[in-house]
Parts: sequence; C-alpha cells; structure tokens
Amino acid sequence: MDPEIISVNGADIPRNSRTTLDLPVARLYTHSQVAMPVQVVRGKKPGPALFVSAAIHGDELNGVEIIRRLLNLPALKRLSGTLFAIPIVNVYGFIQQSRYLPDRRDLNRSFPGYERGSLAARVAHQFMSEIVEQSTHGIDLHTGAIHRSNLPQIRANIDDPQTADLAHIFGVPVILNADLRDNSLREAAAEYGIPMLLYEAGEALRFDEVSIRAGLKGIVNVMRHLNMLPASRRKAKREHKPLYARASSWVRAPAGGILRAIVPLGGSVEKDQLLGILSDPFGEHEIEIHTPCDGIVIGRTNLPLANEGDALFHIARYRKLEAVTARVEEFTEQHQPDTNPDSPPDAEPPIV
Ligand SMILES: [Zn+2]
Repeated sequence: MDPEIISVNGADIPRNSRTTLDLPVARLYTHSQVAMPVQVVRGKKPGPALFVSAAIHGDELNGVEIIRRLLNLPALKRLSGTLFAIPIVNVYGFIQQSRYLPDRRDLNRSFPGYERGSLAARVAHQFMSEIVEQSTHGIDLHTGAIHRSNLPQIRANIDDPQTADLAHIFGVPVILNADLRDNSLREAAAEYGIPMLLYEAGEALRFDEVSIRAGLKGIVNVMRHLNMLPASRRKAKREHKPLYARASSWVRAPAGGILRAIVPLGGSVEKDQLLGILSDPFGEHEIEIHTPCDGIVIGRTNLPLANEGDALFHIARYRKLEAVTARVEEFTEQHQPDTNPDSPPDAEPPIV
C-alpha cells in the first residue's frame, strides 16, 4: 500500500504534495456539474492512507469544521503516508441543509453503491472507488440528528481488535460497540478490511466547540498512533483503560407533551432517577420520566415538544459507572473553550 503515485479521478498525485480535487458526481437539472471537494495530502515518507470524511448526512456540520482545522495543522508538514480529507461527501444534502439526498435516500444506507444505481448509490460508488478503496483506515464524522445532541462518542466494531485499538486511542470517554448497519459506509469499508471509526458529536446544523476540539484531537491521536504524525513532545498522560458501554437505550415519551428536561447531556444517572417532566400547557397533567437503568446520558433532545414515542434521552449502560462519570467530567473540562487570557495570541478564537 501507499504507492509512489496515487490516482484520484484520473489525476496523478505524487508524494510530498497537497492536491485539491473536485470529484464529479452528477449534473443538476440546471446543467451545473456537482462535485465532491477532496483534498489529498501526501507526506514525503510512505505510510498508511487515512480517509477522514464528514457530512455524509448533509446537515451534520461539526465534522466539516474538524476537517478544516485538521488541514490547517502545521504538523501535517511532517506527515507520513496519505490523508484523504473529504469535508462534504453528500454535497446535495449539504446545499439543501438536509440529511438526505434530493431523492430522499440516506447516503449512509446506500453503500457500497452502484455506478448505474440511484443518485445516492452513484455518490456512494464514486466515494468508494476513488477514496475508500485506496485507504487503509477511515474516520467518518457525524453529529446527532436535528434537535438532538450527542455527547462525543465513538461507534465502532470493537470485536475487531485493530478497530478497538483505534477507538480507544481516539480518546473520547464513550465508546459504543455498534454492529455494522446494512449498506452503511462502515459495512462497505469492512468488506475491504479497512478498520473504521464513526465519531458522533453535537447536533445537526450547529457548531459545537467541545465536539469539534475533541474530534480534532481524536483524529490527531489516531494519526500519531499510526505513525502518520510524529509523537507528541508532551509527556504521555497516564493510559486510561477503555470503558466500553455494555448497551444503550433510548427513553421515549410515553405520551405527547411539553418537556422540561432536568438532566444535562453527559449527566450520570441512577436507575429510576428523574430525567424530565412532560406536561400539557396548563400544567394540569404531568408525567415524570425516569431512567430505566444506571448510565450516562449520551444523547438528548433539545426540542421541548414531544410526540408520543419520541426519543428523549439516550442512556449508555456501564459496568463501572463511577469510572465513566469521572472520565466524562474530566473530558468536558479539558475541551472547554479556552477562556484563559494567557492563551497564545495566534490561537483561533473558539466558536461559541
Ligand atoms: Zn450522521
């Protein structure tokens, strides 16, 4: 792997170069060509080929900003191997600010795609054949759905030891062992033996600084582990043991109502603890929502309006809840936007 010349869409890309490409997908009915923007960064020395992709769901934006920051890291000058950066995979959805494609298909259920299939299948096929099949590793960046926030978390097939390793190295406290979904990018990458992580953090159509910082840090951690970037000069912190969630479940609204949530994202809860109260607008009928198990709130609705059956709180269960609670607190603290007046003047202002 990692040949002298890599070819993407017919363009030859040598070592020690940075190339921006427009990967053509399909023409619009206006005649305009639509293209997937790709940047290929190749180091002087050979090494792994990592793809980092975002906005496979067109309304999930944190990953787009994570990739912008990744591509601006001075450390990339010392890259070994190849970085494929694809900030906007679902260009159609991104323009429409929508999760889906114009044909209402979910791109992440359309892999590996097919040259003469639906529009989603064609985008998937183009992405697979030009990028994924030339990669040795992958990280795909997502957020929660619209009106729903996720605590930064990795979803990966941790039954595969190599993937489990990367999941742990990424460094966010929550790791879910997620089965491969049919026709997802993860499933398609697994067919090629490519270990892949899915990072989920924040909410659709919003930027969240903690999620962005944690995602960038995670990618850098993985790249260092793969020897694509030089090791950190700072002393390695003590190694945490990986804490995998045993299972996770959504707490749904037993009836329609207006929700007053009282447990924040990242909150640690004990079985039967009050999570929130659903009420009618008069406050005459109130329903308390309790958690069915101990765990950490790793996903939450931000919309106080709930129909019966709507998913309100996503709880991850752990064997050692105390350890995870401490880790989540430490993690959130570490990634808070820096309000320290002594921070270097060239640092970018955080998004607030
Ligand atoms: Zn997504």
